[in-house]
Amino acid sequence: MPVLPDSIEIRLPKKALAGNVAEVKWSDGRTTAHTSFNLRMRCPCATCRDSHNPDPKAIRGPKGVPPMVELTSFDWVGNYAVNFVFNDGHNTGIYTFKYLLELDEAPNAV
Ligand SMILES: [Zn+2]
Repeated sequence: MPVLPDSIEIRLPKKALAGNVAEVKWSDGRTTAHTSFNLRMRCPCATCRDSHNPDPKAIRGPKGVPPMVELTSFDWVGNYAVNFVFNDGHNTGIYTFKYLLELDEAPNAV
């Protein structure tokens, strides 16, 4: 059975970091955390990846991302992904559940 997210909570991190955090609780009991800045920097959409940065896991992200960028909301996309909305107006990133699990920052960010 695939691991699916049970819930996603957008909240301010305990540590004084810029931006906020999406905390995802998964069906296998795991919790992953994703800071807004890293999610924005690793946005998998075509506009962000483009030709100059084809690797979605590259540290170098799209140009012009404000360091204080925050998550404002999210939408479920079918049963395989989440669409995060950021306060810099960006809303085209579709993060698959598999990709979110790969981006887990829980040990560092929570
Ligand atoms: Zn994007």
